[in-house]
Amino acid sequence: MDFSWTPHRFSGGALALDVANSVILRHDPDRSCDRFAVAQQLDDFAGVAPSLSAEGPQYGAMTPVQPANRQAFLHLREAIDRYYRARTLGVAERGYLATLLEATAENLRLAPSEHSLECATARSALRLITEPAPDRMKICGNCGWLFLDRSKNKSRFWCDMAVCGNRAKANRHYHRKRLEMRP
Ligand SMILES: [Zn+2]
Repeated sequence: MDFSWTPHRFSGGALALDVANSVILRHDPDRSCDRFAVAQQLDDFAGVAPSLSAEGPQYGAMTPVQPANRQAFLHLREAIDRYYRARTLGVAERGYLATLLEATAENLRLAPSEHSLECATARSALRLITEPAPDRMKICGNCGWLFLDRSKNKSRFWCDMAVCGNRAKANRHYHRKRLEMRP
């Protein structure tokens, strides 16, 4: 299969969000795709995260998720997405945070060492509860990924201007043209 982890796929600004964003187009079940459904891609993620994730330097080299931990890790991923997506939309329920904390605890317990994707993702997910301020977290207007907006005036709409910003611009142009062409 022709797939590679590109810098764009690490647009979240935090490791936990990059992990959550391994599911493409969550809001569109027909086109949605789970990059971690392929074990090799999940293994490769740990290899490139130290250099491509914004938090990479903080965590350094990390071992891939142990096969026995995969299910718990994917559970953590879903808990990250559910809690932070709901918090960003202002609809977080107390239970979502509890589930996230349980999932991080489970992954910290299972992690073979501090230098593992399980451990690094759990720590990143915990840090995001307070840091940076919650209003820095956003949902990309084009692809639905979670990302941190660290810009000075918190003005970002897109996870990645070069990809999603341009796509949105092209869409707007397309729709305008269609309107103009109407008889
Ligand atoms: Zn995007």
